[in-house]
Amino acid sequence: MMGFQTNNQERLFYSFNLEDHVPKNHLLRGIAQYLDLGDLRQHLTEFYSHTGRPSIDPELMIRMLVIGYSFGIRSERRLCEEVHLNLAYRWFCKLGLEDAVPDHSTFSKNRHGRFRKSDAFRHLFESVLQRCMSEGLVRGEGFATDASIIKADAQRMQSVPGEEAMNWIQSEDAPRAVQEYLDALEETNDPSFIPKFVSTTDPSATWTGATGGPAFFAYCTNYLIDLKACIIVDVEASAVNKAAEVDATRTMIERVEDKYDMKPDRLVGDTNYGSAAMLSWLVDEKQIEPHVPVCDKSERKDGTFSVSDFQWDEQADEYRCPEGHALRSNWRPFKKPRKRITNEDTIIYRSSQSDCAACPKKDRCCPNTEFRKIARSIHENARDVARHIHLTPEYQRSRCERKKIEMLFAHLKRILKLDKLRLRGHSGAQDEFLLAAAAQNLRRMAKWLAPKAQETNLARIFHEPPQPIPMRAMAHQIA
Ligand code: SF4
Repeated sequence: MMGFQTNNQERLFYSFNLEDHVPKNHLLRGIAQYLDLGDLRQHLTEFYSHTGRPSIDPELMIRMLVIGYSFGIRSERRLCEEVHLNLAYRWFCKLGLEDAVPDHSTFSKNRHGRFRKSDAFRHLFESVLQRCMSEGLVRGEGFATDASIIKADAQRMQSVPGEEAMNWIQSEDAPRAVQEYLDALEETNDPSFIPKFVSTTDPSATWTGATGGPAFFAYCTNYLIDLKACIIVDVEASAVNKAAEVDATRTMIERVEDKYDMKPDRLVGDTNYGSAAMLSWLVDEKQIEPHVPVCDKSERKDGTFSVSDFQWDEQADEYRCPEGHALRSNWRPFKKPRKRITNEDTIIYRSSQSDCAACPKKDRCCPNTEFRKIARSIHENARDVARHIHLTPEYQRSRCERKKIEMLFAHLKRILKLDKLRLRGHSGAQDEFLLAAAAQNLRRMAKWLAPKAQETNLARIFHEPPQPIPMRAMAHQIA
């Protein structure tokens, strides 16, 4: 029998409980269970005046933002509408059916004003991370690092060539993103680097063609994740270039060490993190195993001898060529000692011209020069440690685990829809990345620690003991 809708919308009194209308397995229930905003008010106290009209409740603001970043609602106007209409969102925000949702402009003003100054988003990210740790999802044995490019909220057409940007006059009326850029310029004071184009709306964004298509303005989000349960342990916004990404990784590793007294046994990364200086920092300074491919341009492809064909003698401080002759950096003593280290942090080792002139293998060694030269990095020992790790089965495992961080970036862009920023300036990018990382950690906790999944997931995490390679043993083998 065909049913009839009663259209009974005119009732005056309802018996309605919001709690009953949110499904037991709704993702927000899981998120609510692990989101603790108990000390948020205390953290923000000094940023609120004791007089005047009461502001929007900061906890409500944060709860609304968590919804926005967890469900890919990028527009603040839409977020306010969704919270108004969606029962589950109302329940999560602790709003009753008749409670008013903040107006989107008030919401925006609060978010970009005192919230930024108070570092509330980092506070939120850290409190979520603390919860992940107390739930046992962070082991601290292996970390992975990587960066992903996110488009900035800056049009290609609203830009000027890099040289012209230097003529900007700082004014009080300049937008916040421009003020931030000018302040950063004053701090770094590096006239040697002039970008090709500078955006007039978000000058801190980097003009990049790294993705292969037409160039655009962008920032990088840098993640440091714990490999066992893919929990993001730190996040940092940076410019889009290799040096900035490496610096961001160093900052994150040091921050995690300072804050949580946690340092990984191994760091997994791609070639961007395989520069000699970075490897030396990891091996010599931090005692972290670099599971990172070495940036190595010493292998020759034209059939002549590569550096690996020469034997290094640490004690004699020289190379031995395939004919058994020495390559040294100092062939004779100088009265005034010379600086041996080049600007590229290398030491040049040369063969003797007379040895090479009589050598039967000269055509395969240095056919176009009178002697052979090898540039050895001052961080070569650290590079050797990384090369040795490269040959181990543990490295193969780390290579597979590198995909975990790429999956987090894919999730960030495709599910959470953070493929383009809405906030401008470096601090805007940092705020968005912190919120997105906190949302990703909350979603992971909610899903992994849900009663059904808990048994299998936790068993998978903790019943597989890691097998790191002892660093000292490896250094000993190489020496
Ligand atoms: S050319 Fe010189 S450096 Fe090369 S193998 Fe012969 S002697 Fe050694």
